[in-house]
Amino acid sequence: MAKVLVTGGAGYIGSHVVKLLGESGHEVVVYDNLSTGHRWAVLYGELVEADLADKKRLIDVVSSFKPDVVMHFAAYIVVPESVRYPLKYYRNNVINTLNLLEAMMERGINKFIFSSSAAVYGVPSEIPVSEEAPLAPINPYGESKATVERILRDLAISDSDFSYVSLRYFNVAGADPDGRIGFAYPEPTHLIIRALKAAKGEIDKLYIYGTDYPTPDGTCIRDYIHVVDLAEAHILAMNYLLDGGEKQVLNCGYGRGYSVREVVEAVKKVTGVDFPVEETFRRPGDPPVLVAKADKIKSILKWRPKYDDLECIIKTGWMWETKGIGSRRL
Ligand code: UDP
Repeated sequence: MAKVLVTGGAGYIGSHVVKLLGESGHEVVVYDNLSTGHRWAVLYGELVEADLADKKRLIDVVSSFKPDVVMHFAAYIVVPESVRYPLKYYRNNVINTLNLLEAMMERGINKFIFSSSAAVYGVPSEIPVSEEAPLAPINPYGESKATVERILRDLAISDSDFSYVSLRYFNVAGADPDGRIGFAYPEPTHLIIRALKAAKGEIDKLYIYGTDYPTPDGTCIRDYIHVVDLAEAHILAMNYLLDGGEKQVLNCGYGRGYSVREVVEAVKKVTGVDFPVEETFRRPGDPPVLVAKADKIKSILKWRPKYDDLECIIKTGWMWETKGIGSRRL
């Protein structure tokens, strides 16, 4: 059994990983300032309510817990907000990550799993996009993730004992089927969540941002991945590092894309609600198509997704929105 420090473990993806870690008997400490996460979402382990900016606290926690592996989820994630407040994003996503890495180095902790993003690719020239494509982000959020990836690369070069897995998430959605955790962020911007909220009547209508993209139906195409499959990838990445695996940068997507219109139709079908939809202008900073080349993670981590189905992703998200306790506990 491993000792795992999970920053941001009270958030959407982190809480799903903590659940899997706890279910398999690992010892977990969650480090989270609860700025967007929730105490109720931490189903296993101890929650330390603290900020990554508080380096003294961080060193104290790392020193007393002595984790085998650190998983780093805590970050800001809203792209338009990052454009408006870049310094806020660089401080939290880059500087605070440095604090964490420095605390680890001071205490000789040398295994790290990083929540990266497909946003590091910007507008890729080849689809599906492979891990070899250049880092070319088009917004401060993506830039902050790309910067940390470069820091990790350099750290691994400088210290041969340090190893990491950087997981580049595509579009994460859905919820754990048991209904105890799911997405619970006050003003969601993501497509599937907004469509579910429109079906629920929580928002008046769903806007489709742009219908003149160079895609078959004119709307953007994304690779949607179920949060539990993504959580599973973290467990495999952890085992890989514990077995002595060398550094890896891996796409986390299914390798299959759906357009905004296809997603909207699927949400209407699954929920049985014909909610209002309005087509409007493009949203700034949206690449037309983002689909993962997904073979590397399958071959290196032996990742075998279980929820690789758009309707299943939507169904679990809908269960969470309508029956899940968390959505009412924001
Ligand atoms: N989108 C949309 N309406 C919404 C939210 C998103 O049309 O209410 C579109 C968005 O412009 C993009 C796609 O859905 O083309 C996926 O956006 P999302 O914010 O879910 O994820 P992103 O790919 O930006 O990380």
